[in-house]
Amino acid sequence: MQRILILGAGFAGLWSALGAARRRDELGIDPARLEILVIDQNPWHSIRVRNYESELEQTRIPLTEVLDPVGVKHLAGLVTDIDVLKREVAYQAGDQGHLLTYDRVVIALGSHLFRPAIPGLRTCGFDVDTYEAGCRLNQHVADLPKGPSGPGQYTAVVVGGGLTGIEAATELVSKLKQARGSAPVTAETPPVRVVLIDRNAWIGSDMGDSARPVIAEALQALGIETRVEASLTAVEADAAIVDGERIPARTVVWCAGMRANPLTEDIPVPRDRLGRLPVDPFMRVPGVPAVFAAGDAAWLPIDGTHLSVMSCQHGRPMGRFAGNNVVSDLVGQPMLPLSIDWYTTILDLGAWGAVYTEGWDRVVVTKGAEAKRTKEIINRERIYPPRSGNRREILDAAAPVVQKPPPVFGNLRTSS
Ligand SMILES: Cc1cc2nc3c(=O)[nH]c(=O)nc-3n(C[C@H](O)[C@H](O)[C@H](O)COP(=O)(O)OP(=O)(O)OC[C@H]3O[C@@H](n4cnc5c(N)ncnc54)[C@H](O)[C@@H]3O)c2cc1C
Repeated sequence: MQRILILGAGFAGLWSALGAARRRDELGIDPARLEILVIDQNPWHSIRVRNYESELEQTRIPLTEVLDPVGVKHLAGLVTDIDVLKREVAYQAGDQGHLLTYDRVVIALGSHLFRPAIPGLRTCGFDVDTYEAGCRLNQHVADLPKGPSGPGQYTAVVVGGGLTGIEAATELVSKLKQARGSAPVTAETPPVRVVLIDRNAWIGSDMGDSARPVIAEALQALGIETRVEASLTAVEADAAIVDGERIPARTVVWCAGMRANPLTEDIPVPRDRLGRLPVDPFMRVPGVPAVFAAGDAAWLPIDGTHLSVMSCQHGRPMGRFAGNNVVSDLVGQPMLPLSIDWYTTILDLGAWGAVYTEGWDRVVVTKGAEAKRTKEIINRERIYPPRSGNRREILDAAAPVVQKPPPVFGNLRTSS
């Protein structure tokens, strides 16, 4: 029996596994001869992009629900080592260490939030990087009325004016208002206050000239204060210290910077500044036999020119193609190159709506409630695997094709 190991069951890993299962089925290969095995530390697939939202119940999908119907095996374990010479992966399950050999491996171990050594950040700070972190933040905010009343009770300082920080900050306005309103409000009850800080000169500096005024409009409408060219220097239980200024705040949320999974260091190739592995259009890591990579752990010029972005927008198709190609490669069939000729950004702006941009220079196509409609379709439908348990439907969803861009609502284009 031969074995394909898929490391990680996030957007890239889950879709690699399903893409591999589809290709195995298409080629008529008996699953008893070709095992596809997913290892993830969790027994579920996380819709990670939703971790800033208030309701996270629907964001974890049991792997059993999606992988069992298509004959993909999975186990819960923490990958600790990848040995490309021995073609072996070490993982920890409970107290036990295990080794598994592979004929092909797909590294889809994703990324994690980069946390610098700022005093108090690890002990007092919050984030929205994982399901657990998102739940912890939501619980903390819901519990604020139970804490002592005082300055900063309903103040949140969000650090990082990139996409995740903006989404976290705009959503926190509603979360804090709901928490404050859940207990009797008196004249002494502190107000809701959200401060978004960034060390760059702009909030949303990656979003470009077209989208930045829209973001500014939304932040202003939601009453979010911004501080630019500002740095968090310390976090206390009830304050954020920003460039020496003490801002009373019981909630400090760190949203600045992503790094690829450190296990990418096990692969003997130069990684980019984010720690990602280079891959060719077939998702192979050049020069390392039998190793494929996808998602946030990998990068390639996605359209031949622009580098892939750490995003589910790129991670899912990278996964589908990696899965297809890893099977094809193993059995000597032609592989398919990935090229995506469109790029969109749909940024949630909380109760104000959202902004939808097209292209690498991020030109606004819709905003407000219309863009929010697209965002909701993405977050709640488009990026979910089929949950019917229907084998054919699941396999078909994993075809190595590039989806069309998300629908646009509004007067610039009609929905597709
Ligand atoms: C709040 C937030 C909002 C976002 N919004 C957007 C958005 O609007 N649009 C967009 O395109 N992208 C967005 N992103 C980015 C997107 O979530 C990531 O790019 C995407 O999750 C990457 O997919 P992945 O499969 O490579 O990694 P992940 O989704 O991180 O999956 C990695 C998997 O590997 C597992 N794993 C990691 N280490 C180990 C180990 N040692 N052993 C076993 N298992 C391990 C993890 O449990 C996880 O299941 C957002 C991210 C966040 C946090």
